[in-house]
Amino acid sequence: MQIIQTISELKQWRRKLSGSVALIPTMGNLHQGHLNLVKHAQQHAQHIIVSIFVNRLQFGQGEDFDRYPRTLTEDAQKLKQLGIDVLFAPNETELYPNHQQPYQIEPPSLQNELCGAFRPGHFRGVATIVNKLFNLTEANIACFGKKDYQQLIIIQNMVKALNIPIHIEAVPTTRANDGLALSSRNQYLTAQERHQAPQLYQTLTHIAQQLQTGTNHFATLTQEAINHLTPKGWKVDYLEIREATQLRPAQNTDKHLVILVAAHLGQTRLIDNLEIHLPN
Ligand code: AMP
Repeated sequence: MQIIQTISELKQWRRKLSGSVALIPTMGNLHQGHLNLVKHAQQHAQHIIVSIFVNRLQFGQGEDFDRYPRTLTEDAQKLKQLGIDVLFAPNETELYPNHQQPYQIEPPSLQNELCGAFRPGHFRGVATIVNKLFNLTEANIACFGKKDYQQLIIIQNMVKALNIPIHIEAVPTTRANDGLALSSRNQYLTAQERHQAPQLYQTLTHIAQQLQTGTNHFATLTQEAINHLTPKGWKVDYLEIREATQLRPAQNTDKHLVILVAAHLGQTRLIDNLEIHLPN
């Protein structure tokens, strides 16, 4: 595995290559969820490139950019074991010369809903860095986790709308044995909070069961779930049921749904979601 830190070296590597290339963009601090993205990519392409870049543009004021865990040595070790071709780990000035990114990608109104309502500018930052990474790597395929469901939909829509020549692979969420979705932010949780954290996924599965049995009053279901979580110490940013392909508010005729949640436990903000298919 080559570790590449500059754009010129990356271009040099890319020029010599034939065969398909899959990109997995990450912010590092790799866990099994990321590694499963790599394994998925290995089924779909001949060459694998993982990028690690903590993207300042997608963090808001007062968010965890400074304390976001940076563990490049350990990450490189894990990737080496999977036998990938390249770890692209540029520093900030390589991607944002003079600390600036004068041209940015402005996603449509979905960027201001769900997570976007609580993290203004977040998806603009995501779309911009992802677009840059697509251009730099000239990848044929890119893998994204369903864990960040809204991000996945915004990227899929961007690729379609801008005719970007890349195929997006959506990869299922990797969870701990107790159901908690793996996330680099889980390590912010105290032992007590970590013990409590699976309540988020349990709440999603409870709603899914009710939907499966024909309950279709979405607003009641989500309000009950918020009422269940709040006294346990969760501060819910949103908990919503949406149509799964475009994240429109769900209607009773929709059969492919996704339940999405973001909630704070202590100092940590966790997100999760659960996709469901209702019988016709
Ligand atoms: P991040 O490093 O958190 O920006 O994530 C990089 C990629 O890994 C994104 O496509 C995420 O959706 C994906 N990812 C993160 N956690 C998980 C997980 N638990 N299961 C599946 N994919 C994940």
